[in-house]
Amino acid sequence: IVRTRFAPSPTGYLHLGGARTALFSWAFARHHKGSFVLRIEDTDLERSTPEAVQAILEGMQWLGLNHDEGPFYQTKRFDRYKEVIAQMLKEGTAYYCYSTPEEVEKMRETAKAKGLKPKYDGTWRPEPGKVLPPIPEGRQPVVRFKNPQEGSVSWDDMLKGTITIDNQELDDLIIARQDGSPTYNFCVVVDDWDMQITHVIRGDDHVNNTPRQINILKALNAPLPIYGHLPMILGPDGQKLSKRHGAVSVMQYEKEGYLPDAMINYLARLGWSHGDDEIISRQQLVDWFDTHHLSKSAAQWDPKKLNWVNAHYIKQLSDEALVELVTPRIQAKGGNTSGIDLKAVLALYKDREETLEQLATDALLFCLPFSPASPELTEQFITEEAKAIVADFTQAASALSEWTSEQIAATIKATLAKHNAKMPALGIPLRLLVTGQKQTPAVDQVLAIFGKETVLNRLKV
Ligand code: GLU
Repeated sequence: IVRTRFAPSPTGYLHLGGARTALFSWAFARHHKGSFVLRIEDTDLERSTPEAVQAILEGMQWLGLNHDEGPFYQTKRFDRYKEVIAQMLKEGTAYYCYSTPEEVEKMRETAKAKGLKPKYDGTWRPEPGKVLPPIPEGRQPVVRFKNPQEGSVSWDDMLKGTITIDNQELDDLIIARQDGSPTYNFCVVVDDWDMQITHVIRGDDHVNNTPRQINILKALNAPLPIYGHLPMILGPDGQKLSKRHGAVSVMQYEKEGYLPDAMINYLARLGWSHGDDEIISRQQLVDWFDTHHLSKSAAQWDPKKLNWVNAHYIKQLSDEALVELVTPRIQAKGGNTSGIDLKAVLALYKDREETLEQLATDALLFCLPFSPASPELTEQFITEEAKAIVADFTQAASALSEWTSEQIAATIKATLAKHNAKMPALGIPLRLLVTGQKQTPAVDQVLAIFGKETVLNRLKV
């Protein structure tokens, strides 16, 4: 049974890179009908905050990346880590090291001077027949992992192929600090073991940790998960993602009116493909997801494409769903939505906008108190001639039995014919007088939505 995990460090919000890592782990678990575990790696007490935990949970929830187990918190598992450290000390796969940080620094410099990899020189590493130095009085030791010195460590990465590291390259990692607190790589190992993780999908900034983690897992006789390291996401300029492009919280996209389904679709394509398909539903992603089609090269963030995908998903929404999603956004902008046919309003804009926020802004035309056109526009367009056409239109319109866009369109046409005029001669004055604005969607539809009473009142000039 497949078990994957997403293991964010709560030092900030859930950003796009993290969200995509979570998405691939989630999709892999869902595809294999396995379990998706959420683990909060909050051992860095100085940088972890409860706010960041909340922000991550909120982001995951918004995206619909539901977990089956967790969230587990590393800070609540210290007893377990200490138990494993004690076990390793007993079994001789870890040892106390009394070297001071200054001494270790010197060892590294000495190694470097000899043209070797800078590392701890093994002073306190127990070996058969070796006599260890006397323990310095009053000094608290750290605990080091006894990394194998011979051979190599190797794994078949799902993305990068076989990676082999010489054990000589690896240091005897500190697994517990002087105060007894476990270190990051060690906690990850114990967690992946205890949580029976079968597949570790994470960013390739963790590639260097993997051989160290594998060696510790082996020392614990723990089964090894399969690893896959995802290449990073670059900005549209080919550089590291910047704040301007994507290096922001996923909730920023919620704020800007992106749909979670669109976000998921877009993120899935950012490093994974299914033929030439661009529109991929959540269910299709789960059905089709595989690690063979994960891209081996860095993905590039493309805000235009995200907008295109979002526009697609907006068009797919039912009128009811759209009204429900946009209403609070209109209200947040001070708009009054009561008594307004929002379905009709949003239908005017649905096909031409890319975000819910844009739609909410559009809808304000119908939801804010009327503010008349500027004196300049009035002077330019509400001429004596325009007033005469408008007066004729008003007369004919007040006689309409049905206030529909078809009836209004027919009335406009008839009025224009009578005056031998073209559309703008009536269209612009009608817009200015009814909405205060010169540009709006189709005037017959706009007038239909405002309602007969409001329109006739505003046309009394
Ligand atoms: N906590 C790590 C991070 O947020 C992830 C560790 C892992 O996936 O193994 O980058």
